[in-house]
Amino acid sequence: MNPDLQIWHPFTQEALDPPPIRITKAEGVYLYTDDGRKLIDGISSWWVNLHGHGHPAIVSAIAEQAAKVDHVLLAGFTHDAVENLRNGLRKILPASLEHIFFSDDGSTAVEVALKMAVQYWRNVGRPEKRSIVALEHAYHGDTVGAMSVGADSAFSDPFREMLFPVHRVHSAYCHRCPVGKERATCRIDCADKLERLLEEKQGEIAAVIVEPLLQGAGGMIVHPVEFLQRVRRVCSEGDVLLIADEVLTGFGRCGKMFACELANIVPDVMCLSKGLTGGVLPMGATACTGTIHEAFVSADRTRTFYHGHSYTGNPIAAAAGAASLRIFESEPVFDRINAIARIHCERLQAIRNHPAVGEVRSIGTMAAVELRADDAGYFSKLRPRLYKFFLDAGVLLRPLGNVVYVLPPYAITPQELHYVYDRIAESLDLCQD
Ligand code: PLP
Repeated sequence: MNPDLQIWHPFTQEALDPPPIRITKAEGVYLYTDDGRKLIDGISSWWVNLHGHGHPAIVSAIAEQAAKVDHVLLAGFTHDAVENLRNGLRKILPASLEHIFFSDDGSTAVEVALKMAVQYWRNVGRPEKRSIVALEHAYHGDTVGAMSVGADSAFSDPFREMLFPVHRVHSAYCHRCPVGKERATCRIDCADKLERLLEEKQGEIAAVIVEPLLQGAGGMIVHPVEFLQRVRRVCSEGDVLLIADEVLTGFGRCGKMFACELANIVPDVMCLSKGLTGGVLPMGATACTGTIHEAFVSADRTRTFYHGHSYTGNPIAAAAGAASLRIFESEPVFDRINAIARIHCERLQAIRNHPAVGEVRSIGTMAAVELRADDAGYFSKLRPRLYKFFLDAGVLLRPLGNVVYVLPPYAITPQELHYVYDRIAESLDLCQD
């Protein structure tokens, strides 16, 4: 008996933050609270939900699957649910990504990618190629390997000593250009550092990991497509694997099924999660090329990829994933995505010259407003004021410090999205007090 057991809520500081809000129902874009309010879920509940909460096709797929096979290990076993999901993914993934490894969430999808890359080079007889290159402002998850490739931050600070070293190169953060250029005239000079690094040290580098075109937690930073194209090119020339972490960007968030499509590139390894199940159940996946997989196929068991989680390929999560992909086929999902993207452009244009605004940026269904602030960054004092302001106005938005962003479920209507923007427009005056 432990009557004192309490839930430890992520990211919350009991000494400072208000108590958690109790949600009793989630439907469409709305979250309903126990005190009778409804909130527009303007961030898809941490960037996961695609088609709106409680989509009937996903709900019934989950119920049917739970009654058939609830869970079974994937080592040495298989089931229809995971194969149906594989079949759905076959239709949308680039042809060269021939194998897919299932795990639990975004962080584990990244851990798998990193370990796969390092062991690949070992298996092909080049064990010295084991270091990883990552970008400034990167975020790839909260497990130790994923934190190591993420940028230094308050999140990773207490664990600095236990993180593995990585080579850090510039991000294409045009608003705060790391090499002091202007986008209109630059030649993607921010990628020079990566190019030089690969020229000098390719013999020891296993992979470069990027969030393609959109760095999320680092501040919703949108990269020019030319940056990603150049990263792809220098990785190919330098014989280094490219890992695209599409955990946030996958499944239409950036306007195409995968952000890599916008730059017309294919990575060697791709990490998926969040929208993989429609944002309803946890699941991660790491897709890789046939060449990478081939290096693990051997009569020699030391070449095996010894990585597996208890819930790998969970049938109920897989059924939700397959149902979500069918929704892309049966409903006009990309029309909704394009409608959101149009409203983002129109409304951002209208506020971009407001004195409180430093920069506006958008890609597909993500729109961000970087506010001017003396204390720019995650701990900006603007953040708690804005968070409360939006909640009081019936909108869940969680600014990343001084960056307010909108990343709604695709089911949001134009009226609902305009309502969110009207609140953002009002909030700008708050920022100038
Ligand atoms: N990679 C990216 C790009 C992410 O944005 C996130 C989470 O926000 C992760 C990985 C980690 O995913 P998870 O929180 O499911 O572990």
